[in-house]
Amino acid sequence: MKLTSYWLDTAPAFTGTPIAALPAKADVVVIGAGFSGLSAALKLAKSGASVVVIDEGRVIGKASGRNGGHVNNGLAGNYGMACDKLGVATAARLYKVLNRAVDTVERIVTENEIDCHFRRCGKLKLASRESHMASLRADQARIALDVDPDSRLLEADALGTEIGSSKFSGGVLYPHSGQMHMGKFGIGLANSVLRAGGHIFENTPMTALRREGRITRVTTPHGVIDAGAVLLATGTSRHAPSYFRKRIMPVGSFIVATEPLDDATVRSIMPGHRNVVTTQNIHHYFRIAADNRLIFGGRARFSKSRESTDISSGEMLRSALQAVFPQVPDIRIDYCWGGDVDMTIDRLPRAGEWNGVFYTMGYSGHGTQMSVHMGQCMADVIAGNPHANPLENMPWPRIPMYGLAEHFLPAIGMYYRIKDKLM
Ligand SMILES: Cc1cc2nc3c(=O)[nH]c(=O)nc-3n(C[C@H](O)[C@H](O)[C@H](O)COP(=O)(O)OP(=O)(O)OC[C@H]3O[C@@H](n4cnc5c(N)ncnc54)[C@H](O)[C@@H]3O)c2cc1C
Repeated sequence: MKLTSYWLDTAPAFTGTPIAALPAKADVVVIGAGFSGLSAALKLAKSGASVVVIDEGRVIGKASGRNGGHVNNGLAGNYGMACDKLGVATAARLYKVLNRAVDTVERIVTENEIDCHFRRCGKLKLASRESHMASLRADQARIALDVDPDSRLLEADALGTEIGSSKFSGGVLYPHSGQMHMGKFGIGLANSVLRAGGHIFENTPMTALRREGRITRVTTPHGVIDAGAVLLATGTSRHAPSYFRKRIMPVGSFIVATEPLDDATVRSIMPGHRNVVTTQNIHHYFRIAADNRLIFGGRARFSKSRESTDISSGEMLRSALQAVFPQVPDIRIDYCWGGDVDMTIDRLPRAGEWNGVFYTMGYSGHGTQMSVHMGQCMADVIAGNPHANPLENMPWPRIPMYGLAEHFLPAIGMYYRIKDKLM
């Protein structure tokens, strides 16, 4: 079993800009070469700005290259609950932004001819218990009325053509969702930035940010860059200013990729070839990759993400996937990896300007599409259009006891496991 991301291991090689070419100034410095930063850099470079992207590690080395491969539309959580909390107008607007975000990914793939197996496969949200169907039914009815008339309720007897598992009591199909190879997309995006005239420096951490009049000085171990504007696209960075660290909690999620399966096995377990997410509190998410591997993810060990937990997480996920698909008892796991999800208090992302620095982050595990979309939106904001930010003016509460919260994760995990067993 390789303890590395399948997407990163099977992505094309990437060569960034040589460190010696780090410039002393740029119109825009983008900090973070994940999807948010690269997408923003692409739009800015295409508009003629001088753009420098710096990353403390490798391009798409964090969440963007370590996720489940789903490009899902709509909100991650319950739409009805979002309506109750935010008001119907805001919840509906956010739902539609997520829909547009999938269109943005598709457009960038097409315009830049990125070969990454993008396809609109649809997402199935499956009820892990009969008792979960009532809430799925009510939510789908409201979603169909307000924001997604194409979503469809599937009762248990209609699931046979979708999934080869008797574990589920029905579900909802969201046809607009897509999937892609995250490594091929990310490297394609990075190469498009270089082709548009941008520069990407790997292994170049931002160690300090200082405003001086109209410029921001970005300090790195290789030199200082004076930026006309800075976009902070660092996800869960522990080096981000404390304002951001108090509002984002890194929570580990884990994924395994099986050996490539033969076509008959794929037809027997995932005949619908959709993205699948389940309804438990500690839910699972899975799909088939283009080379027929089952990519199966979820919360495994409920602790802070650490590479050393990957092997035991892999074993937990193997048991979980065999419980869903008992017809493949001897399936081999080829890859297992983990990554940090950038959780906000309400699982909604945030973007804007703080102390003269632009930012976009906090996608809370539902960000392959939003990071790409928000990167483009924030490029427009930096170019002078503040209303291009669909998350403009959203208040952003702190995580209560933010420094301590992660120590309670094992207890929180235990609570949800018991809840999933009972309800
Ligand atoms: C395990 C896992 C599974 C997921 N599954 C899905 C899924 O199936 N579908 C979905 O929609 N979303 C999913 N997500 C979420 C999605 O991957 C992220 O929301 C999205 O990739 C965020 O992109 P980003 O560019 O904002 O952040 P990142 O990809 O984390 O990029 C941030 C970059 O900033 C760099 N950086 C940090 N600090 C500094 C610094 N000081 N100086 C320079 N560089 C710095 C990092 O090295 C990193 O490369 C998942 C996330 C994880 C972790």
